[in-house]
Amino acid sequence: MTSWLDHSKGITDTHCHIQDYEAPKDLLSGLSRLPVEVWNMTISPAQYLANKEQFSRYSNIIHCPGFFPLELPKIETQLDDLFIAMEESLVIGEVGLDYTIEDDCLKQKQFDCLSKIFTKGVELGGRTFSIHSRRAAQETFALAAKFPANTMIFHWFSGSLDLLEKIPEHFYFSCNTAMVRSRNFRNFITKIPKGHILLETDGPYIELGSKHVSSCDLHMVLDALARYWELSRSEVEETIQGNIKQIKGKWNG
Ligand SMILES: [Zn+2]
Repeated sequence: MTSWLDHSKGITDTHCHIQDYEAPKDLLSGLSRLPVEVWNMTISPAQYLANKEQFSRYSNIIHCPGFFPLELPKIETQLDDLFIAMEESLVIGEVGLDYTIEDDCLKQKQFDCLSKIFTKGVELGGRTFSIHSRRAAQETFALAAKFPANTMIFHWFSGSLDLLEKIPEHFYFSCNTAMVRSRNFRNFITKIPKGHILLETDGPYIELGSKHVSSCDLHMVLDALARYWELSRSEVEETIQGNIKQIKGKWNG
């Protein structure tokens, strides 16, 4: 399918919505021959269960039960289902806050649910979360900071860079192809220690020319990081896979 991955020791796409691609099974068949692991986000426990079944024959994919904030109040009654799914899942997502809505009551509901979800993660011995924080970075940061037993991955961070002055040990940031092309990326990336950076596609929700991004396009993020960090691409890969190892190390503890 692509050449650069043939020479890669492995990459992890920590935020992807497999079912939303036009031909998800073709994509997964292609990826299964490559050293790629995909963390498959879902927006609800029901979607998680459906994905797990639909894509059961593919390896190198981790299905993640989610609770997408903009799905509230529709999925409010599924919170207990999420807690059940969290027992068998080490990565949870997509969860978070989205304050692009006006309704304060719904914002509060998002916050209360997220707080309960993080609490459940701690009760289960710690979970890894992929977190959405659109127009709510400050609130999401403050809440996530209170749960150091969990690993908190901020997906497509777009909040104020002032928040990045002091990054808690359990915070990570996943970078995608759109982020590296933005003017702000240089300022963003200089604030984050290398040990806290991960990769994501957010596929299929980013377009590259006429096609939707896939894990095979992540060399673009690696190359951008290589420029800023003044390292080779393989050194960047190694650094980022080291970060993944660090996160997975906690899964066994
Ligand atoms: Zn997403």
